[in-house]
Amino acid sequence: MKQFNINNLVRQNIRELTPYSSARDEFIGEANVFLDANENSIGSTIQGNFNRYPDSQQWELKEKLAKYKQVQPEQIFLGNGSDEAIDLLFRAFCEPKKDRALIFPPTYGMYKVQANINDTPLDEINLNSDYSLPIDKIEQIINPNVKLLFICSPNNPTGNLIEKVSIKKILNCFKGIVIVDEAYIDFYPEGSMLNEIDTYPNLVVLQTFSKAWGLAGLRLGMAFAQKETIDILNKIKYPYNVNTLTQTYALKALQNSKQKNEMVKIILQQRNWLSKQLTELSIVENIYHSDANFLLVKVHNATKLYKILVQQGIIVRNRSSVELCDNCLRITVGTEDENKLLIKCLKKVNIEIPVTA
Ligand SMILES: *Cc1c(COP(=O)(O)O)cnc(C)c1O
Repeated sequence: MKQFNINNLVRQNIRELTPYSSARDEFIGEANVFLDANENSIGSTIQGNFNRYPDSQQWELKEKLAKYKQVQPEQIFLGNGSDEAIDLLFRAFCEPKKDRALIFPPTYGMYKVQANINDTPLDEINLNSDYSLPIDKIEQIINPNVKLLFICSPNNPTGNLIEKVSIKKILNCFKGIVIVDEAYIDFYPEGSMLNEIDTYPNLVVLQTFSKAWGLAGLRLGMAFAQKETIDILNKIKYPYNVNTLTQTYALKALQNSKQKNEMVKIILQQRNWLSKQLTELSIVENIYHSDANFLLVKVHNATKLYKILVQQGIIVRNRSSVELCDNCLRITVGTEDENKLLIKCLKKVNIEIPVTA
């Protein structure tokens, strides 16, 4: 592989930045009297040890996570959701108004929002009609100013995994950073690119505790990459970006990984059941293949159906205004009861509203 140096990609001001140094960063070693951070030494106003700042580098959590994910702790960035990592990537690598980012719609909306917030021009190349990556001639199409290229796999809102061979082809020909967002990878772990981070210095893999782990409220996202890239994200993050509660509970969650796997199994069973039930409805035109915990479903009149479901107190995501998602609803797999209720409601609609082309 050709020579790759992440420091040639990083913005000059970030390369030259002296990061904030917290009290705890400056003292390394053993001690038991901490009078260095202006905390309240007496205690907290609520039960629990919240009077001390959390570990800014989350080392205990990273050690455990590294074992679980089979990477080095130095190859992990932890943030306030994976959304934080997305934002930091823009801030580290994209000179506003100059450096570009590339996305493959239809995909996760945050990439575009973050590009806009960071004043980064965005290129969009649609996925193929089967939602696969358009890799034909991709090399010629990519603007030379593109620094960040986002691939969401399994993709939101379409649900399909993106083939590893296509991702590798892009990793090999593209000179910027390839971010593979694997928020839903626990539902198809074999599809992960995580074990490729040692091979590709331009690969960043994003994962999260928000989906399969059932911890969306904790706000904990992960970025995995070679140490040099992770160092850059750590250099510009807020010093205490992952709070004490999140670190404590994430450690507990890692000990309960079996429970995560069991929930994934149930969700996959329920997804198959839902899919089968939906096939039998004439209002349903297509159920796209899903490798995630949701289904993209093409119906005859998505907006009308969406409103009917809302009236029944059932909220799905109307994606019909999204390109290549004409008349599509994105339905998260619920509990067994919730899914039954949804199907019951849809069956009723199916009878009452005649199919009109
Ligand atoms: C849900 C989701 C995330 C998760 O974001 P968090 O900030 O970690 O909650 C990331 N990427 C995609 C594509 C998602 O659908």
